[in-house]
Amino acid sequence: MQNSGQFAPFERLTISNQSLEAIRHHLHQYPELRYEEKQTAAFIADALNTLNIPFEAGIGGTGIVATLRGTATAQNETGTIIGFRTELDALPITEPNDFPHRSRHQGVKHACGHDGHMTILLGLAAYLSENRDFDGTVRFIFQPAEEGGAGAKRMMEDGLFQRFPMQHVFSLHNWPELAPNTVGVMTGPIMAGGYTIEVSVRGTGGHGATPYACTDQLNIAVQILNQMQSFMARRLPPFNPAVLSITRFAGGEANNVIPDEVRFDGTIRLFDAIAAKIIQDEMPDLIKGIAKSWGAEADVRIEEYYPPTISEKNATDLVAQAAHNLGLAVATPETGLRPAMTSEDFSFMLQEVPGCYFWLGQGGEHGLHHPYYDFNDQILPAGVALYAEIARLALQIVKHQS
Ligand SMILES: [Zn+2]
Ligand SMILES: [Zn+2]
Repeated sequence: MQNSGQFAPFERLTISNQSLEAIRHHLHQYPELRYEEKQTAAFIADALNTLNIPFEAGIGGTGIVATLRGTATAQNETGTIIGFRTELDALPITEPNDFPHRSRHQGVKHACGHDGHMTILLGLAAYLSENRDFDGTVRFIFQPAEEGGAGAKRMMEDGLFQRFPMQHVFSLHNWPELAPNTVGVMTGPIMAGGYTIEVSVRGTGGHGATPYACTDQLNIAVQILNQMQSFMARRLPPFNPAVLSITRFAGGEANNVIPDEVRFDGTIRLFDAIAAKIIQDEMPDLIKGIAKSWGAEADVRIEEYYPPTISEKNATDLVAQAAHNLGLAVATPETGLRPAMTSEDFSFMLQEVPGCYFWLGQGGEHGLHHPYYDFNDQILPAGVALYAEIARLALQIVKHQS
């Protein structure tokens, strides 16, 4: 990996649109994969040092937590404490774009906009360090490994909320499906919980010419796969939506040998404990039962990796209010906004501390994780303003005349 080089726009302590864009482009050029965000964390640490905001690094790997206490806070008190979180990591995708700020790291790219999220959080840090006359404390959480690495959970296992208590946590994510600067909010689940499912069908294989003398694991596995989809359609109430996708299927090596074992795996996405319980309690029995009826056996492993992302009502109302105050368009379930079936590890933080995860529309023709995707710089100012307004509402920042 190349060195990220000299870059210190925060020396000017400005949050002009140009400097936000410059920071975003710099971060985009030097993306790093989950738990390898060393240069990225060093860049964040540099910026926080320049802003004179104390921080601790190395939390849950490359994570950083910075803390800014308002000057209007009563002596020896912290006041209300709120946290804002961003992700540090990029994806194993080769960047096909040829714009000047394209990725300089072969095979790695910020295709989820975490470069933009980091920039917005640094913009908030810059803004609050210059407008510090608030009553309370703001924490800035820079989290590793959102993309499948559960970095949020790792930070929590490293004592995130014990070492740095918070009463509310907030995180935005850019959202290509919404128009630029439209804020998408909803109380309750906004992103699905994710489960992995792994199935292994084992029996006695044999010659392809004599299936009657053995058990045909491939044929059994295909029946199981079809019955699993029937299960999703017939056993789950329509009020508890869930999807199952088997995405990998492996077994057999020759055209005349019935293999002893066939394996397949995939993902389940759902929004609540009812669907999770039905699937976990009943689906393994169905799978094992089908295998048994053909004289084979099956092993089933269903494991949660990210819980549903659930926003608390008061924090969500506060985000909507902040968006209204700034004159931004707000999308809600009443205007047709729907939760996403994808998952998000901020869900772990929301299980412990009430808060809100919300979307900031960015438009564009490419969705998240698409090779051509790029964060829309035009939403950077709104992102910073939105975070600042959320902080103002949550902490009632004292206005002072200058
Ligand atoms: Zn992503
Ligand atoms: Zn993301």
